[in-house]
Amino acid sequence: MKLALIGAMREEIDPILEAVNEYTTSEYAGNTFYECQYGGHELVIAYSKIGKVFSAITASVMIERYKAQKILFSGVAGGISKDLKIGDLVMASALCQHDVDITAFGHPYGFIPEGSVMIEADSDLRSLAAEVAVDMGIELYEGIIATGDQFVASAERKEWIEKTFNADALEMEGASVACVCQNFNVPFFVLRAISDAADGEAGMDFDTFLKSSASVSAKFILEMVARIGH
Ligand code: SAH
Repeated sequence: MKLALIGAMREEIDPILEAVNEYTTSEYAGNTFYECQYGGHELVIAYSKIGKVFSAITASVMIERYKAQKILFSGVAGGISKDLKIGDLVMASALCQHDVDITAFGHPYGFIPEGSVMIEADSDLRSLAAEVAVDMGIELYEGIIATGDQFVASAERKEWIEKTFNADALEMEGASVACVCQNFNVPFFVLRAISDAADGEAGMDFDTFLKSSASVSAKFILEMVARIGH
C-alpha cells in the first residue's frame, strides 16, 4: 500500500528518514518528497512547513500526485489536558479549527458552512494505534486536537480552546490535513507528542523538547506502518 507520512517541520520527519535509511527525493509544489519501501509498504514522506495552508498543500499533493492511500501525520503539540505531560503521545479522535470564526452569522466557532466543526480520524488506524501502544508498553492518550494558525503560548487562549472545543491538545496542521483527507476520501491519522503546555513557558519548552518529542512520535508512527495491512 502507498502510505504518506507528513510532519510540519524538518525535525518531525528527520527521525523517520533516519530509520528508513534509503530513499529517493523529488521536488513538487515547493516541497521535497522522500520515497522509499518500508515495512512492506511504499512510503512518501515530507514536511509541509508550518500551518494550515502549507499542510493542506502537502496533503493534497501526497494524494493527487503521489497516490497516497492513507495519510499519517507525526509531530509535536501543545498539551491542554492536565493528563498530558511533555513527551506523552496523543492521537486525535477528531480535529477542529479553533481559529475559524464566522460567529457573526450565528454559526458556532470552528464551523464552515457545508462542513462540520469536528472531523473524525479513521477508526481502523486508531484501533491499530491502541494495539501498538499496548504492545510497546506505551500510554497513548486519545482526544480532540484543535488546530489554528497560531502558536499558543497563553493560558487564557488555551483555556478558551479547551472550553469551546473540549480539546485535549493543540497544534497548527492536523485539522487542515483532516479536511483534505475527508474531501478526497482518504483515511487519515494524526499523532502528536507533547512539546509544551501552550502556556507562558511554551516557547522555551518547545525549543527544548521539539527534537525528543518529535522522535517519540516518529518511532510510534513507524511501528504502526509496519503493522498496517497490505
Ligand atoms: N520554532 C519554530 C516555530 C514552531 S511553531 C520556528 O521558529 O520556526 C509550532 C509547531 O509545533 C507547529 O508546527 C505546531 O503544529 C506545533 N506546536 C507545538 N506546540 C504548539 C503550541 N503551543 N501552539 C501551536 N502549535 C504548537
